Amino acid sequence: MRAVVSPKHRLHHPEHEVSFGVRAPALEIPARAEAIAAALADDGGFDVQPPTEHGVAPIEAVHDPAMIRFLSGFWDAWERAGYTTREAFPDSMLHPAVREGMGPSPEPAGPLGRLGYWCFETMTAVGPGSYEAARAAVDVELTAADLVLSGEHAAYGLCRPPGHHAPRAAFGGYCFFNNAAVATQYLAELTGEPVAVLDVDYHHGNGTQQIFYARPDVLYVSLHGHPDRAYPYFAGYQDETGAGDGMGTTLNLPLPAQTTEAEYLEALDRALGAVAAFGGSLLVVSLGMDTFGLDPYSDFMITTQGYAEMGRRVAAAGRRMVILQEGGYFVPKLGENVVAWLRGAEPRA
Ligand SMILES: [Zn+2]
Repeated sequence: MRAVVSPKHRLHHPEHEVSFGVRAPALEIPARAEAIAAALADDGGFDVQPPTEHGVAPIEAVHDPAMIRFLSGFWDAWERAGYTTREAFPDSMLHPAVREGMGPSPEPAGPLGRLGYWCFETMTAVGPGSYEAARAAVDVELTAADLVLSGEHAAYGLCRPPGHHAPRAAFGGYCFFNNAAVATQYLAELTGEPVAVLDVDYHHGNGTQQIFYARPDVLYVSLHGHPDRAYPYFAGYQDETGAGDGMGTTLNLPLPAQTTEAEYLEALDRALGAVAAFGGSLLVVSLGMDTFGLDPYSDFMITTQGYAEMGRRVAAAGRRMVILQEGGYFVPKLGENVVAWLRGAEPRA
């Protein structure tokens, strides 16, 4: 399988996140992508290449251009304003009730206010290289899409930072630009075909769902920890099925704690049934390894062998696949698990 990898992810190297309201060591760290890249190289079965530059237009097709401008200029503004921290978090976020009945808030002028205007939580440190790393992740994902458009059955993009939590006009959840959504929009525009997105990260891809919620030509299907207990809490419920022309093109399969591998695979078959019933030949996979039994986020019981079986079943759907990295935080097994999934997904003779 062809794989796209960029060293520029290292430019985003958070030291901390604020989880449960306290400062903790960052989990979304460069070592994650390094472990995956090393496993791809060690395996020998992957043809690894760097990304090509795609510019900002494909991001603007999905995200609010004002948010892109904010991210591109944030660090300079942060330093100019005299802040001396090496990474930035918002201290106030734009809760919708604050402006209820008053119309939308203006974008504040100061960098800390602007950070809370665009960022929706406290886990996503912004540092001096975050924007460049996020741009490189988009180039990785679009280069993988190009490979599939030029005839590869499947291609893998080692995206870091991940993307699926970023909606059109906000960022958070370790995500800046929604890699899967940008790739999906790009594929839809270039082929005129409907595109299905399968999200198997432990967490619901609220951003991807939001971006395509009213779109009849994009199917979003997600298996994830139930939002009653799992981030992102405010999306991912079963009764969210789309809006307007996109009614019926969102399928959420929230799963209970202690979901076994067999139960997970059963839910995956349901998800793949929805993909099979949707038109088109393209599938974007948001591949998160944080469903792994040892992952700090997971309360599922997925094993390395289980990932090989997941890859096999997804490939059996017969779609052309752009497979993009999302989460996965148990670094010692992360590379092995990604390789198991991708190897499982290779076409059988
Ligand atoms: Zn996740």
